[in-house]
Amino acid sequence: MIRTNNISFSYTEYGKDEDLAPGDLELVLAAREIALNAYAPYSNFRVGAAIRLKSGIIIKGANVENAAFPSGICAERSALSNSVSNHPDDIPVEIAVAAMTDEGITAGFVSPCGSCRQVIAEEETRIGKPIRILLSGRNNTIVLDSISSLLPLQFNKTQLKSNLP
Ligand SMILES: [Zn+2]
Repeated sequence: MIRTNNISFSYTEYGKDEDLAPGDLELVLAAREIALNAYAPYSNFRVGAAIRLKSGIIIKGANVENAAFPSGICAERSALSNSVSNHPDDIPVEIAVAAMTDEGITAGFVSPCGSCRQVIAEEETRIGKPIRILLSGRNNTIVLDSISSLLPLQFNKTQLKSNLP
């Protein structure tokens, strides 16, 4: 059997900040705020991630770079490690990501790297629910319903199980 399959996804794009719903803007502003705390002396690319938990608590994380480059950690994983460590039973509902350079907030949205996509996918698997994702720039913000859109055909524990002898 030979078959060609197609995967597609949709997302909502908002223009300026005022187009966002108040709750979404709050989360985006939290991501921008924590980006100021990034330790990014090598790239000068400051990233912030803000996670809203089911209880309403917002957990934030920034990128923390290292002279040994692979030892650095991205904002998304920084925030997720914080939320899982300190609020293991209060599940993430949504995550906003924003970044800035020396010239200020990036014009376009920034997208999570491959490692962060994998880690967000694991968190969706852990909690058994999709996590809404807001990727924000100065000129636009896009909203996706799940990391599955950014990481289709993802590796997860179901594959581990199905491949056990
Ligand atoms: Zn990353």
